[in-house]
Amino acid sequence: MTAKIIDGKALAARIREELKKKVERLKTAGIFPGLAVILAGDDQASKIYVRNKQRVCAELGIKSWKYQLPEDVAQEDLAELVKKLNADPEVSGVLVQLPLPAHLDSAAVLNAVAPAKDVDGFHPKNLGLLTAGRPAVIPCTPAGVLELVRETGVDITGKECVVVGRSNIVGKPLCLLLLQEHGTVTVCHSRTRNLDEVCRRADILVAAAGRPGLVHGGMIKTGAVVIDVGINKNEQGKLVGDVDFVSAVQKAGAITPVPGGVGPMTIAMLMKNTVAAAENGNLRKPQR
Ligand code: NDP
Repeated sequence: MTAKIIDGKALAARIREELKKKVERLKTAGIFPGLAVILAGDDQASKIYVRNKQRVCAELGIKSWKYQLPEDVAQEDLAELVKKLNADPEVSGVLVQLPLPAHLDSAAVLNAVAPAKDVDGFHPKNLGLLTAGRPAVIPCTPAGVLELVRETGVDITGKECVVVGRSNIVGKPLCLLLLQEHGTVTVCHSRTRNLDEVCRRADILVAAAGRPGLVHGGMIKTGAVVIDVGINKNEQGKLVGDVDFVSAVQKAGAITPVPGGVGPMTIAMLMKNTVAAAENGNLRKPQR
């Protein structure tokens, strides 16, 4: 069998188109979505991610601001900026680009973002609500994965879902989302025994480990939905996922490519969260 390719690029484009119309409607009603992005240090990948986020904001008519801070920024100065943006009525979403330089306490910074402006969904309050089954802001990458699964038409209810990776930003929140959709969820990590065997049980398999080629065709149940979250560079410098696409495509029923799968959906979901934050905050038209 050859899998259907789930086109994340096309799905994300459709979502952006809807959001663009929604932003226009909100503006007419005097609500102006705006996203503030904080970038500390010179990480090249982070710079590209921030540039892409700002580009999509512009495409959708969402105002964006970038705060570039030096690599050695003090924790207090970063906290002060977050506090200022929390209080700014023009800013509906505040995003702190991760990873932060090692000397900074990332958890404390994420905790400082006002939950209503936490468009990444990383604030403990928002993660707690997700855990309690009352999601308010859903982290962008897991939300994107869910949309991609829905795109296949497969009903998650009662399905064996296996998530490889247990990070706070991808693996764990995704497990909660799949559970909420009534999946039977197994989460794997670096100490999981018999990873191949566990993965082969999956009707829906998500790879989010950051290990190129970790999941191969021999680990996939025939016809399974395979979502590849990984973004890695292989030895040739080519962008690859966590799934060995060539062997996986022969076994899966549907599969996301890298690039063009989860990546564009993550940004689309960020825009969705930003628009929702503006709507919920009912921001007035700026006076200046
Ligand atoms: P982390 O490094 O924070 O977490 C990786 C997880 O994978 C950990 O739980 C780790 O286990 C597990 N893991 C690592 N090696 C193995 C292994 N050999 N077998 C089983 N589990 C393993 O990564 P992130 O969650 O932040 O990101 C994961 C991947 O997704 C990365 O490639 C990242 O670039 C990509 N990504 C893509 C996004 C997109 O928009 N497409 C957005 C965010 C991330 P343990 O906990 O035991 O260490």
